[in-house]
Amino acid sequence: MKDLAAQLAQIVHQHQWDKHYENLLQSALKDPDVQSFLTTYQIPPESAVIKRNLDAIYEFVHAKGQAHFTGDYQPHLIWVNQTIHVSYQPDAALRQRQRQQYFQQKFQTIDMASDVRQASLEDFAQGSEGRLAAYVAALEFVSTYPQHSGEFIPGLYLAGDFGVGKTYLLAAIANELVHKDHNVLLVHFPTFAVQMKNAIGDNSVLERVHKIQAVPILMLDDLGADALSSWIRDEVLGVILQYRMQEKLPTFFSSNFTMHDLKLHLAVNQRGDQEPIKAARIMERIRFLAREVIVAGPNRRFEK
Ligand code: ADP
Ligand code: MG
Repeated sequence: MKDLAAQLAQIVHQHQWDKHYENLLQSALKDPDVQSFLTTYQIPPESAVIKRNLDAIYEFVHAKGQAHFTGDYQPHLIWVNQTIHVSYQPDAALRQRQRQQYFQQKFQTIDMASDVRQASLEDFAQGSEGRLAAYVAALEFVSTYPQHSGEFIPGLYLAGDFGVGKTYLLAAIANELVHKDHNVLLVHFPTFAVQMKNAIGDNSVLERVHKIQAVPILMLDDLGADALSSWIRDEVLGVILQYRMQEKLPTFFSSNFTMHDLKLHLAVNQRGDQEPIKAARIMERIRFLAREVIVAGPNRRFEK
């Protein structure tokens, strides 16, 4: 008797469950996206195809409800080999985020403000006339790099007063290049130099130098902003530039000094010693790697 009761309970339970399941499936079939899918592929509502693929249809409707809250991956019904499948594709917002992440990886920065990612060449061009030469030079680089003949294309050395938009222009060039799928590293040189000194302690100097010297396009921002020690000048900057010269890797610079004045600046080390020959060696490399362009115009820092 007991067994029979248990069996009965199970049957009732099963039956109700089936009914519940049936209801879910019926409402899934009424879903407008399912309906239009069935119409598109001319699948009759009561057909064997539907019966065979109820699980996919149910999964689709269920996932659609979920995606409504989480956003990221949108389910789609697809018709492959006479069978209904659910495929998940990233929605527009997720695709946009993935794109951004991709570009963020291509555009690396060291010690730069995060707004560099917003800089654009078009906006730079909106500035004063003093920027025209730099804008043209930037466009020229962006449109010729990489040279298919394998010929070396020098980067730019942007010289100009404080606030004229040199850093902004480097960032704008970088953004343009990463959108053409090139890798760029933009480094705030004075801060980087301090970090390198600290890196002596944990023996990571060489590793860091190797890492930055080999990037396809390197940009050193604000060169000459601080007095450099002989060590930073010769063993860090000098080594990086030497490598890039040998490998013919375009390198960009920005500085408040013209090349002529940077030479004088580099000739005096932090302790005040005169080292003109060492400075000349650095300048030789910079002149090989980049061509000087003067950026002029109003100080943009006070416009904000
Ligand atoms: P520099 O490096 O020559 O000292 P910056 O590139 O830092 O000058 O520019 C100074 C300020 O002006 C920054 O806040 C920068 O974001 C802003 N700026 C420069 N050029 C533009 C531009 N074309 N559009 C919008 N902001 C700009
Ligand atoms: Mg700057």
